[in-house]
Amino acid sequence: MHPSTLQLCSGGPRAVFFAPLLAASLAGACATPEAPQANLEALLADSTLVDLTHTFDEATIVWPTSNPFRLEKVADGVTPGGYYYAANNVHTAEHGGTHLDAPIHFAAGQQTAEAVPLSRLVGPAVVVDVTPLAEADADALVTTADLQTWEATHGAIDRGSLVLLRTGFSTRWPDAARYLGTAARGEEGVAQLHFPGLHPDAATWLVQERGVGAVGIDTASIDRGQSTSFDAHRVLAAANVPAFENLAHLDQLPARGAFVFALPMKVGGGSGAPLRAVAVVPKTSVRR
Ligand SMILES: [Zn+2]
Repeated sequence: MHPSTLQLCSGGPRAVFFAPLLAASLAGACATPEAPQANLEALLADSTLVDLTHTFDEATIVWPTSNPFRLEKVADGVTPGGYYYAANNVHTAEHGGTHLDAPIHFAAGQQTAEAVPLSRLVGPAVVVDVTPLAEADADALVTTADLQTWEATHGAIDRGSLVLLRTGFSTRWPDAARYLGTAARGEEGVAQLHFPGLHPDAATWLVQERGVGAVGIDTASIDRGQSTSFDAHRVLAAANVPAFENLAHLDQLPARGAFVFALPMKVGGGSGAPLRAVAVVPKTSVRR
């Protein structure tokens, strides 16, 4: 098989993952068994790539008890050999900036960062726009009813989907006071966190009734800022469902039809890891 060619339509779990993208961009391409493959280059040519990751730098927002991101300069200049050379060390919290929450973050014995299967990091995205809710109440919780309202308009959430909650809070980045509800650091800061999150019952519904691959959000945590028991995290972690936090640019994705690659640094034993997430958005998909 040519490396740029994917087995898209011949069944199996990949076909499930790629089906929405195909439906949006290659209408009819899989209609006959004589067309078992689609060309990835053609697919990308008809798509826009959207970066879902905030830049890691000194402005990166981290949890109030985490160390800030730091880029330590090792070399930057012309060497005795006459050539320019730059290198740095990077120091980062697992849970600062755009990042993965591995299931072990809130469930002993569950998957660590390097063990999260790629099938949960790559898949069709469902984007649930709750910006009016979040704008009205920084402590809002996305409920099962909100997800069912989305389904009534856009159709059922497919098994294996990456469900991305768009609160609109990413537009407040990197203003910590507005994004987190406070710029205070340490435990004092934790107590003053105010941002929306996922209701634990809705997390249970996504896991048990929809079999989602992963859940992401454009705030600092899947649980809202005022949570002290982190129940949504615990529900997802218990089912080995990873979470993506501090996502960016969800406003550039359609409600469905985008395909997301959320690939974290492969940190052995990590409870999380910095995440580079991108979306492939077919130009034919409708933004709603
Ligand atoms: Zn986290």
